[in-house]
Amino acid sequence: MENGTVSGWDGPAGSSGVDRRDFVRMCTLAAASVGIGASMAERMAEAAVARKLKPSVIWLHFQECTGCTESLLRTSHPALAELILDLVSLDYHETLFAAAGHQAEDALKKAMKENEGKYVCVIEGAIPEKDGGIYCKIGDRTAVDIVNDVAGKAGAIIAIGSCASWGGIPSADPNPTGAAGAPMVLKGKTVVTIPGCPANPYNFLGTVLQYVTFGTLPDLDDKARPRFAYGRTIHEHCPRRAHFDAGRFVQKFGDEAHRLGYCLYKTGCKGPATHANCSVQHFGEVQDAWPIGIGHPCFGCTEKTLAFRAPLHSTVDIERPTPPDFYPPIKAEHGFVSPVATGVAGVIAGALLGAGFMASKKLGAGEPAEPGPGAKKEG
Ligand code: SF4
Repeated sequence: MENGTVSGWDGPAGSSGVDRRDFVRMCTLAAASVGIGASMAERMAEAAVARKLKPSVIWLHFQECTGCTESLLRTSHPALAELILDLVSLDYHETLFAAAGHQAEDALKKAMKENEGKYVCVIEGAIPEKDGGIYCKIGDRTAVDIVNDVAGKAGAIIAIGSCASWGGIPSADPNPTGAAGAPMVLKGKTVVTIPGCPANPYNFLGTVLQYVTFGTLPDLDDKARPRFAYGRTIHEHCPRRAHFDAGRFVQKFGDEAHRLGYCLYKTGCKGPATHANCSVQHFGEVQDAWPIGIGHPCFGCTEKTLAFRAPLHSTVDIERPTPPDFYPPIKAEHGFVSPVATGVAGVIAGALLGAGFMASKKLGAGEPAEPGPGAKKEG
């Protein structure tokens, strides 16, 4: 810590201005939201402050709309992109790069060479495998070649968005290019998936923060999604859930029930089978900026079996039909919990639930990171 500013958080231009006190406060807030005591939160905050490493990040783009990057850059308070960009050294990102052609290719090679085995490889977009991968080529190399090369030498791999996680819209039937998600191409490797169309930036933040702070990855489900964000279905914490349990349904768009904000199940809501936290972490820090919040059924964008496959207005089976112990208020008077605190909550939850210890030595110089409680060493 220098001059009250968190080391490694003050960025090349000292832009974020997140000081130690604010950071500890965010950790404590986040801890409260996941039921962890303040002293543990403070210890984790201190560990984060002590870290001085800025891991190199190489961000690859393939078959996609760049919506995940756009979504990340469009957050406002506090500037999430700023926070992430201050946390890491973004050494290659095709959308944000001023460089082009050979200059960009050279930057990629340089970053890989200087940080081999340590950098974080972020993959955005699906990877076409059909016909030798000819449907997506950059610098005369196929996406399959690039992802195998770059991810193969990385310390950690994160697939952001549904396209990179499981194929997304490019893989919709008849999938003419053989589009696949990164885990399908990088068989046998741990690829953290952050599905969503777009992915919620705060889930990405939670994962990156944990890796930067502890050198660990969050606890993951069977689809390699962080449990802190994908452990529950939308239906389980939907603000319209009380209407569902009371049998108050929208029958068609624009009817009285729709105007009253009733449950959207009968208009095709996929919330009962969709694992995500959109209902509690809205987009762009705008209240109700998520599909159900604006009166549209959940599309199931995080689920490979639903998005771009199940007809938009077809109904789904109810995965967890039991009513919750507690209902979010239908017309909530929302107190403000910092979105960053929510991201940090992911860090805390992930660290405490245990995770694969990502061998902090991979991050290079500096003190080894402490594994989160319950974390196990990677072989
Ligand atoms: Fe919410 Fe959809 Fe479940 Fe209705 S069916 S409670 S709108 S998630």
